[in-house]
Amino acid sequence: MICVIGGAGYIGSHCVKRLLERGYEVVTLDNLEAGHRAAVVGGEFVQGDYTDRQTLDTLFTSYPIECVMHFAAYASVAESMTDPAKFYRLNVVGGYTLLEAMRAHHIPYLIFSSSAATYGEPCQIPIPEDHPQEPTNAYGETKRAFEQMLRWYDVAFGLRSISLRYFNAAGADPEGQLGEDHHPETHLIPLVLLTALGKRPVIKIFGTDYDTPDGTAIRDYIHVTDLADAHILAYEALKRGAPTSAYNLGNGLGYSVREVIRTAEEVVGRSIPQEEAPRRAGDPARLVASADRAKHELGWQPQYADLRTIIETAWRWHSTHPDGYGDRT
Ligand code: UDP
Repeated sequence: MICVIGGAGYIGSHCVKRLLERGYEVVTLDNLEAGHRAAVVGGEFVQGDYTDRQTLDTLFTSYPIECVMHFAAYASVAESMTDPAKFYRLNVVGGYTLLEAMRAHHIPYLIFSSSAATYGEPCQIPIPEDHPQEPTNAYGETKRAFEQMLRWYDVAFGLRSISLRYFNAAGADPEGQLGEDHHPETHLIPLVLLTALGKRPVIKIFGTDYDTPDGTAIRDYIHVTDLADAHILAYEALKRGAPTSAYNLGNGLGYSVREVIRTAEEVVGRSIPQEEAPRRAGDPARLVASADRAKHELGWQPQYADLRTIIETAWRWHSTHPDGYGDRT
C-alpha cells in the first residue's frame, strides 16, 4: 500500500488518482490546511498532521504501507523569505519526524516532492541534476536540506528514496475531475485564467526587463498528470532496486510569461487584461530542465508536454470550477 502525504493538495491529488487507476491501494494523510477533501477521489483518507509522531505511528500501524509519497509542504517562495521558521518547521522538522517514524515502522521507500528552487540562479540551461544547488530562497533551502537528509538516511539506515525536482507544475486532470485551487493563488497559469474568467481584474507581468527575447521570465511548465506518473515510475524503480537519487521533471522547453498569456488568450478565445509590473524578488530569468535522466532511467515520457494542451486542461478546470473546490471563502 502507498501512503500519500499531502494527497488532498494539487499535485498529491493527481497522484492519488493515477495510483488508483493503476490498481494501487492508497491511504492519503492530509490535514486539509491547504488541501481539499473533495480532491481525494478514492482510497482511504485520514485527516491529520504529518508532523505529529502519534498520528504517523497510528497510520503506519493501521495500514501495510510499503512506500510514502511525500507532497506536504509550504511552497510559497515569497512567504519563505518573511517567515523561514514556518518553512523549516513543516518542511524540515516535519520531514525529520516522518523519516524517524518510517524507520521505526520499517517502511523502505520514499518519493519526495523536491523543486527546481534547490538550484538557485542557474549557471547552465537546461539545468542537469548535477548543477550546483545554491537556493536563493528559504523555500528552496528547506527542500535541499530534506534531500540531503534523505541521502544520509540511506547511507546509515538503508531507507531508499527518490527526490523529484519539479519545474513549474501546471494544468489539470485531463478528465476534468481535479485542478489547481490554492488560497491565495500565486501561480501564473491559474491567475491568467482566473483573469480571463473575470474573477481577477488584471494579470500582472512581473518583470519586463529580463535578458530574454521578450524581456519576461522563462519557465518550464510541466503537466501535473505527467508529474504524477513520474512518482509511480520512481516507486517502481525503487522496488526494482534503483539507488537513492534525484531527478528533474520538466519538458525541457521554456516559455516566457508573455507567451503563456498569449497561448491562454488563444485557448479562451479572448484577450486577457494585463499590465507590466516590477520583477518579483528572487525570480531567476530562466529555469528550464534537462529531464533526460528521468526519461532514460525511469522510462518517463510526458504525455501533455505542449503548453497549449497544458493550458487547455487548466482552462477546462477553471471554467467549470470558477470557485475551485468551493470549500474556501
Ligand atoms: N508571474 C507573473 N505574474 C503573476 C504570477 C507569476 O508574471 O501574477 C511570473 C513569475 O514572475 C515567474 C512566472 O510567472 O516568472 C512563473 O511564476 P509562478 O509563480 O507560476 O511559478 P514559479 O516560477 O515562481 O515557481
